[in-house]
Amino acid sequence: ALFADGEGGPREAALDPALRPRQDDPSAIRSVGVIGGGTAGYLTALALRAKRPWLDVTLVESSGIPIIGVGEATTPSMLPFLHHYLGIDPADLYEKVLPTWKLGIRFDWGPHPEGFMAPFDWGSNSVGVLGSLATQGDINAFTLQSLFMKADRAPVFPLEGGRHLSLMKQMPFAYHLDNQRFVRYLTDLAAARGIRHVDATVAEVVLGGDDWVDCLRTPDGRELRFDLYVDCTGFRSLLLEKTLGSRFVSYAASLATDTAVTGVVPHGGHIKPYTTATTMDAGWCWNIPTREADHVGYVHSSRFLSLEEATEELRRRYPGVDTFRPVRFRVGRHEEAWRGNVVAIGNSYAFVEPLESSGLMMITLGILSLVSTLPASWADPVPRALVNRALSKKWDEIRWFLSIHYRFNTRRDTPFWREMHTGADVSGLEPLLEVFRAGAPLRFRDSVVRGFLESTAPTFYGLEGVDCLLLGQGYPARLLPMSEPVEAWQARKDAADALVGRGLGTAEALRAFDTDPELNAELLDDPDSWVVRTGTDRLVNA
Ligand code: FAD
Repeated sequence: ALFADGEGGPREAALDPALRPRQDDPSAIRSVGVIGGGTAGYLTALALRAKRPWLDVTLVESSGIPIIGVGEATTPSMLPFLHHYLGIDPADLYEKVLPTWKLGIRFDWGPHPEGFMAPFDWGSNSVGVLGSLATQGDINAFTLQSLFMKADRAPVFPLEGGRHLSLMKQMPFAYHLDNQRFVRYLTDLAAARGIRHVDATVAEVVLGGDDWVDCLRTPDGRELRFDLYVDCTGFRSLLLEKTLGSRFVSYAASLATDTAVTGVVPHGGHIKPYTTATTMDAGWCWNIPTREADHVGYVHSSRFLSLEEATEELRRRYPGVDTFRPVRFRVGRHEEAWRGNVVAIGNSYAFVEPLESSGLMMITLGILSLVSTLPASWADPVPRALVNRALSKKWDEIRWFLSIHYRFNTRRDTPFWREMHTGADVSGLEPLLEVFRAGAPLRFRDSVVRGFLESTAPTFYGLEGVDCLLLGQGYPARLLPMSEPVEAWQARKDAADALVGRGLGTAEALRAFDTDPELNAELLDDPDSWVVRTGTDRLVNA
C-alpha cells in the first residue's frame, strides 16, 4: 500500500490531467466530430465524453442514411465496458433495452448430432474435456457452463421467500441486445450526457493538407469543423477510405460470405441462454433470442445462392419466420485505423462476418485504443503506428480463427461446403494445426509448446478457443491421455448435473434480475466477480 500510488505507478490514461488541452496551445485537441450514428458512433461519443469530459463532442449522422441495424450478440467484455467504463446503470439498461443472456454459442456444426457448445467459460475446463470425449464422444460436458447451455438453464437458483441465488458472477456471459432498442437507448443517453447532435449528410470532406481533414460540408453549404474526426460511417468509410485512401485488405480468401437475410421467428416465451449458429447450404444461420422473439439471419455467399433462395431456405429452417431484410457486407480491414486527424471505428475500419459475434467487441477495442492514446495536442507525439499495428494484428487473428470454422466443418453435401473444405485459406494457422494433430488439446501441452504457440500463432481467443473449435468439429488429432480415472471425471460431471438441474429457465431467471437490483449489484461490484476481476482488460488480452 505504501507504494501503490507512488511515482511511476500505472494510471488510467483517461481523466489524466496532463491530457487536458492547454489554453495557449494552437494545436490542442478540443473538439471531436464523430461521423455516424450507429453502434460505433454512439459508443465512441459516449466513451470520449465519459473519459475525456473536457472534450467538446459532436455526433453527426444522416437521417437519410440508415444504420446497418444488426449486431445483437455480444461477448462478455461488453458488461464491464457498458457498466464500468461508460457507467451505464444496469437497472436502466434492463428496463429500457431488455437484454437477454448469452452463456456461449451453440454450434449446430460438425459431425456430432447435437453439434457442440462453445461456452464463455471455455478457459476453465471445469468438468473436463478429455472425460467428455472419452465418455460421450463430444465436448459438450467439458465445462459447467456448457452443461447449463445444454440443459437450457441459467445459473440462477430459487431460494425460500421468493429470493434467488445467482452464480452469474462466477461465469462469464454476454448480452443479446435488440439492436433498435439499444441504439435508441444510446441516442437518448448521448443527449442526456451533453453530446451535441447534428442531423446532416456529409456531402464533401475538405482536406487541409496531407492526411488532414479541415472540415466537412453539407448539401446546404454548412461547414462542420473539428480538431479530431472519428469515422463511424459504416461500410461507406467516408473519411478513412474514400477521402484519405487507406487501402482495404480483404479476408475473402478465408471467409467467403458477403450477404445476410435477417428475419424474426416467434419463440412462444422460450428464451434460450445462448446464440445458435446453424450450418446452412451456403453458409450458416444465427438465432439470437430477445425477450419477445428469436432474431435470425442467414449469412451466405452470393456466389452460391440468390437472396430469394436464401430466403426460401430460411423459411424451411424456421417455419413462421417473418420480416425479411437483406444486409450486404465485405470482410477485411483497412491498412490503418488512424491516419492524420482521422480515426476509424466500426465497419468503416474493419469487419468480419458475425460467426463469433466480434463486431461490438472490436468496436470497444477500437474505442479503448483511441481513448488511451489520444494526446492533448497534435503537437505531441501521436502513437498512430502502435494503434494501427495492434488493431490490425487483432483483426488478422480473428480472420484466422474464423477460417477454421469454415475449413473444418464436416459438411460436404453442397458446392459451398465442398469449396470451403478445400479452399478456405487457413494458412495463418498451419503451424498450430500441425502441433494440434500431434497432441490435443493444446491446453495440456507442455509450457514450452504453449508458450511458442501463444507468442507466434494468431489464436485470438487463446489456445482454449482453438481447442474448442477443433475438438468440437472433430478435427483429427492424437488425443493426450487422461490424467485421472474416468470414474473421477464422472463423479464431477454428476455433481455438476445435479447443480445444473436446479437452475431456472432463462425467462424466469431474467425476471428475477429485472425485479431484484441486488442480483446485478453483486454481479457488477463484487470483487470476486469476473466482471470486476477481468474488467476491460479482457478486451486487450483476449
Ligand atoms: P452503421 O450502423 O452502418 O452506421 C453508419 C452511420 O453512418 C449511420 O448513422 C449513417 O447515417 C452514418 N453515415 C454514413 N454516411 C454518412 C454521411 N455521408 N453523412 C452523415 N452520416 C453518414 N456485431 C456483433 O457484435 N454481434 C453480432 O451479432 C453482429 N451481427 C452482425 C450481422 C451482420 C450481417 C453484419 C453485417 C454485422 C453484424 N455485426 C455484429 C456487426 C455490427 O452490426 C456492426 O459492427 C455495428 O453495428 C457497427 O456499425 P457501424 O456503427 O460501424 O455502422
